[in-house]
Amino acid sequence: MICPICRHGETVNGEASVTLERGSTTLVFKAVPAQICNNCGEEYFSDEITQSILKQAESAVAQGVQIDVRQYKAA
Ligand SMILES: [Zn+2]
Repeated sequence: MICPICRHGETVNGEASVTLERGSTTLVFKAVPAQICNNCGEEYFSDEITQSILKQAESAVAQGVQIDVRQYKAA
């Protein structure tokens, strides 16, 4: 798709890291499938992936995880 931020680039399939902070929990997901703009570098994630990350973050918060770096896995 055409990037809605810069309106010049086109997004291509790639992988990105996502960092989430919730209270005292910091989570880093690596190798998250993303659409990345080849002009400005903006990263876009599908709803499905966003939901999956948020769900995994919630369970990490519930477990009292302070910091965790993990490879993204589809839930
Ligand atoms: Zn862009």
